[in-house]
Amino acid sequence: MRVGDVIKAVVSEIRRGEVYLDIRGADFGVVKAYCSRCRNPLYLRDRALVCKNCGNRENRKLCKEYSAIER
Ligand SMILES: [Zn+2]
Repeated sequence: MRVGDVIKAVVSEIRRGEVYLDIRGADFGVVKAYCSRCRNPLYLRDRALVCKNCGNRENRKLCKEYSAIER
């Protein structure tokens, strides 16, 4: 995951103010990701995340609901 990603996760534990998230399984993970270079949305193409703006390709642990919905 990267800062700014939108994720679906289960809060598995909260200890000393730190929140622990579980993203195991196809139902959890990144639902929306943004390019680490230019911050534009990443689109899923051939099982890879691609930035339409700069052509950057990235990987994430995706949720099966991954979409290209604008934030
Ligand atoms: Zn980009």
